[in-house]
Amino acid sequence: MKSFDVPVHYRSTLVTAIKSKRKAADKMKKDFSPTVLEAGSLHLILARHFGFCYGVENAIEIAFRAVAENPDKRVFLLSEMIHNPGVNADLQNLGVRFIMDTKGNMLMGWDELTADDIVIIPAFGTTLELEKTLRDKGIEPSRYETTCPFVEKVWNRAEKIGKEGYTIIVHGKPNHEETRATFSHSKANTHTIVVKDMEQTLHLAKYITGELPATQFYADFKGQYSDGFDVTKDMQRIGVVNQTTMLASETQGIADYLKQVMINHHKPSADNIGDYVADTRDTLCYATNDNQSAVQGMLDTDADLAIVIGGYNSSNTSHLVELCELKLPTYFIKDETCLISADTIRHFNLHTHTEQETSNYLPAKQPLRIMITSGASCPDALVERVMERLAELTGNTPALASAAQYWM
Ligand code: SF4
Repeated sequence: MKSFDVPVHYRSTLVTAIKSKRKAADKMKKDFSPTVLEAGSLHLILARHFGFCYGVENAIEIAFRAVAENPDKRVFLLSEMIHNPGVNADLQNLGVRFIMDTKGNMLMGWDELTADDIVIIPAFGTTLELEKTLRDKGIEPSRYETTCPFVEKVWNRAEKIGKEGYTIIVHGKPNHEETRATFSHSKANTHTIVVKDMEQTLHLAKYITGELPATQFYADFKGQYSDGFDVTKDMQRIGVVNQTTMLASETQGIADYLKQVMINHHKPSADNIGDYVADTRDTLCYATNDNQSAVQGMLDTDADLAIVIGGYNSSNTSHLVELCELKLPTYFIKDETCLISADTIRHFNLHTHTEQETSNYLPAKQPLRIMITSGASCPDALVERVMERLAELTGNTPALASAAQYWM
């Protein structure tokens, strides 16, 4: 895979060495077992795959290049480039300003932009409407566009299916930048609706079967369907695509369920199923698949707790947390400063959407076994700092240095 020019302070010598050795021993990526570093009384269990993906490295390279190539110009990001607070802060420290927050709320007025400004499009891509707004201002959005090719692949899939007359159902978080962009690109070709989870899918199915009155649909799915959507006509042929970072099992469940609903309702012959349901595989990206499979592989090992590192608004990271939470106590942290002491950890609660502090998070066990993984927008350097902090808090700093030697 292509390598990118990413600022060196995002890299970790130790993590790079571990990933390189594991990759050399498993070129076909079939081994999802974790890497275990036995550092004295602390055993760190690292997922086989984690951290920066292709799209994130691509975005970081382009964004820093945009700043370097335009020292005399104002440089803006349409919104957070990726969901990592450290990377976004680094760009802001270089003078880059954000036009919108992650929910699409304006942080400045469009009238502040001039044709002389540089605007970077984030890795999630953007909507056709925002591209037009920029072009109307004389700013070419493709000049520093960091849209991930795996996101564009979803748009292409939706376009192809849409042009064959299917309505597109996007499994994604309706307010997430990527889903808003995918929705925009898809609805340019065909009717489109977003479902955020299986619960909404079950609800949507009741409009396919007629169990619920069509008039109720527009309130239930407000803001999630394209203009002119007629639920009585536009659910006859459907195809499912998804935000690239959803939970693989949920996307599969949604696609399988909707297919069965269409079969039960329309009763097509085996040869005619394709008249009602487009044959789509999930449109998750390779990094989402690898990182989720690596967490599943890691969870086959016994451990006392899991630490997942990433931005709190990162979709792919939150799904890694959900997977870990099914098996053991899991703490979602943004960096090593969250490890306040051996007694207290500050972490994000996915269910209450709040940061909280928890005491006694490190059980008094020997050895203490801690699983670690991180999201696709988390620098490896941050993972190494978390490992070092855990070693420090448990009195295992020299032991971690010795364990690391094996990999270097
Ligand atoms: S998580 Fe996947 S889709 Fe998103 S930037 Fe990374 S490679 Fe691209």
